[in-house]
Amino acid sequence: VKSIAVLTSGGDSQGMNAAVRSVVRSALFHGIEVYGVQRGYQGLLNNDLRPMDLRSVGDIIQRGGTILQTARCKEFVTPEGQQKGADVLRERGIDGLVVIGGDGSYQGANKLSKLGIKTMGLPGTIDNDIPFTDYTIGFDTAVSIVVDAINKLRDTMTSHERSSVVEVMGRYCGDIALYAGLASGAETILVPEVAFDLDVVSRRMKENFQSGKRHSIIIVAEGAGSGEDIAAGITQRNGIEARVTVLGHIQRGGCPTHNDRILASRLGDFAVRRLMEGDSGKGCGIINGELVVTDIDLVVNTKKPFNMEMYNLASRLSQ
Ligand code: ATP
Repeated sequence: VKSIAVLTSGGDSQGMNAAVRSVVRSALFHGIEVYGVQRGYQGLLNNDLRPMDLRSVGDIIQRGGTILQTARCKEFVTPEGQQKGADVLRERGIDGLVVIGGDGSYQGANKLSKLGIKTMGLPGTIDNDIPFTDYTIGFDTAVSIVVDAINKLRDTMTSHERSSVVEVMGRYCGDIALYAGLASGAETILVPEVAFDLDVVSRRMKENFQSGKRHSIIIVAEGAGSGEDIAAGITQRNGIEARVTVLGHIQRGGCPTHNDRILASRLGDFAVRRLMEGDSGKGCGIINGELVVTDIDLVVNTKKPFNMEMYNLASRLSQ
């Protein structure tokens, strides 16, 4: 491998910059040329690539967002678009590509790999919805943001004896809700992976208030329903006023935690080393602290298992 490219795609996440920095500096360390593709697959199709040097990734490890910018690109979902992307890389003499993104970006990487481009996927999404990795880059920061917001909400909720419904991101994955819910002592955690009954949720809340609880936090993953609907349903059933907070894109911004920076740094370097060893068509991840690769075809065709043990623990501790 003499020359590689790196791109960020789909929704941005905190730590993407740390991953780009790691890919660039690891490649340069090994004497490999490295190009940054601007705006994801769209930039690839537009031939918007620039050579990266050591200084081009300076002062970004602590920044949210992505200096390479990101985009959603419809054309790249078509076979013609994918062929064009592969051609752009070949014409420039680029042997390998590191794609940092979520599920959709992995699908694109899988297609390029089938067209003979050596590709590596790095899980860059706050959603933690990529299988074969315990964590995705950005997830830890997103969870801290939610926990911090709930700390603040708790103060005001306790003063007013109200309940609070907090809607968090995660698409079809309940991990942000689960981890933030456990870490912030939420009374109820609603996720798309576990069926729930609003009658039970409302009854439990009422009983808890009657037994002396002074606040109640319900955390709803966006894939399980809208915070507004859940709050209205609860108030209608038990008469307790429920205030809604939708955290939205705040969860995707800000300075990445040290965990995300370390994960991104380790994974970026790992992806480069695997490419150097001739590996291709793989998604990189971390399982029990160890860096692992999995066929990207398997990654995109597997649903991430939900941690029921943690869910049950959160439920036991929230009585
Ligand atoms: P996040 O989950 O954080 O939003 P993502 O990577 O899943 O990130 P998407 O918008 O789903 O975000 O995908 C990013 C880009 O990947 C798309 O705009 C498209 O260009 C490409 N892509 C998505 N699905 C496919 C597919 N099936 N084949 C080829 N390319 C795809």
